[in-house]
Amino acid sequence: MTALSVATLTLDGGDLREVIVRVSALTGGRGLVAVDPEGASYPELRDRVYAGITNSGLTWPDRNIIISVAPLGQWSVPPGTDLAVAAAVLTAAGHLRFTALSETMFFGEVGLDGAVRPVPETLALVAAAAERGYHTVVVPAANARQAMLVPGVRVIALNALSDLLNWATTGVEPALPDPSEDRARATDGPAEAGPAQLPASISPAGFALEVAAAGRHHLGVTAAPQLPVTVIGDYVRSLMPDLDDRQAVEVSALHAAAGHPVDALVRRPPLQSPGTATSVASMIGGRRPGLVSLAHRGVLLLHDAPDFAPEVLHALRQPLERRIVQVARARGTSTFPADAQLIATSRPCPCSTAHSRGDGCSAPARRRYRNQLHPISDRLDIAVTVEPAASGESCARDSTATVAARVAAVREAAAERWAKEGFSTNTEVSNDVLRRPRFRIPASATDGLRRMVETGQLSTRGYGRVLRLAWTVSDLRGAGHPDRDAVDTAVELYRPRRHTI
Ligand SMILES: [Zn+2]
Repeated sequence: MTALSVATLTLDGGDLREVIVRVSALTGGRGLVAVDPEGASYPELRDRVYAGITNSGLTWPDRNIIISVAPLGQWSVPPGTDLAVAAAVLTAAGHLRFTALSETMFFGEVGLDGAVRPVPETLALVAAAAERGYHTVVVPAANARQAMLVPGVRVIALNALSDLLNWATTGVEPALPDPSEDRARATDGPAEAGPAQLPASISPAGFALEVAAAGRHHLGVTAAPQLPVTVIGDYVRSLMPDLDDRQAVEVSALHAAAGHPVDALVRRPPLQSPGTATSVASMIGGRRPGLVSLAHRGVLLLHDAPDFAPEVLHALRQPLERRIVQVARARGTSTFPADAQLIATSRPCPCSTAHSRGDGCSAPARRRYRNQLHPISDRLDIAVTVEPAASGESCARDSTATVAARVAAVREAAAERWAKEGFSTNTEVSNDVLRRPRFRIPASATDGLRRMVETGQLSTRGYGRVLRLAWTVSDLRGAGHPDRDAVDTAVELYRPRRHTI
């Protein structure tokens, strides 16, 4: 009896699992059974692999083959494990002589005709395989470009099972797509717009936007309807540094899993700006990542945020706080990364008319409108109001490139400071780390803040948010530890009484 095993990974709704395929070939008979250790059988898997192998012109081995796939629990066998099963069967049957089976990971669905079909999660799976020390991955040819984006892995791309056999017997690797084509395509693609300049009418909010970008703090902007607030998302994003290699693979994998064409690594922080009619399902996702996950490590811009359905705003509470999204599904739960920085814009009053000062909709109408933001208002770190400037009044700001350089310096300083605590930006730092003696802000700088908590002007949650903002303000000034002035500036940015109009 020959017995061997091969490991593969599956990804279902963001849930990564290692699956071990064991194949035993017993002499006598020509059967094929696929079971899990509890004895449940998987006729679809058996049929796919059997048809794929025999329709590839291979003779079925003269043995009894037993395939076991574990652990599956409540899962059915995902089709992406077919290729691993087929490789193990062909090896056990003596068709393939693999010495490196334990160092190779296989991903692919096998068609009844022996074709190797694409798996949408390939990029994420290959990245996970590389992290686990697998240096060779065998993937569907249609996913080769994605797999090649992961540094440090050898990619073998198959159109059909017969390619696997050719490779294993001759040692000649199937041809890969030409990476220079990717480069050409990347430059042909929509050019990354140069740094967006901040329009003069928005420039009074410039400092708040800079702090938001530097610390990745969630931002609420109230602006009169005639002001070009939609550029704020582009501007804040253009202040952000490029994603590093690991983040780029992670973000690209999410976009690939959502079915977007990914031919090159996503290097810039993504920006998603969904319309107000967006549903909970498309915002949060399900089996596939939703918009909040597509904004992972980038910006989620909700323009006219109070006009979104309350259940959509409510569904954002968890990802905005925990930086992941969990969705209950018929079988188990989906978990996706969702570290999106929120920018929520709203108008001073519900109608879209530009009122002159003191004029406009009734106070109750305005209150109702503001209350629609309630599900996410306690998630906002910075609240800024932009008023139409009186004619001739403008506020000189540094160029976008200069501001971006300051933001990059803050990100670096913060990443270095919090590295040991497991955080990289100021907004992530937990309350207990902020309370540690090393990071505690002197009482002389925070006594005003504590008084605000005692008198109910500031919640304890708000207290933590102000401290995190103070770190960013202090970093932007190149100071080591936040002082009283940094804390006062942070209070101004947080504006604890912003909910009363
Ligand atoms: Zn109005």
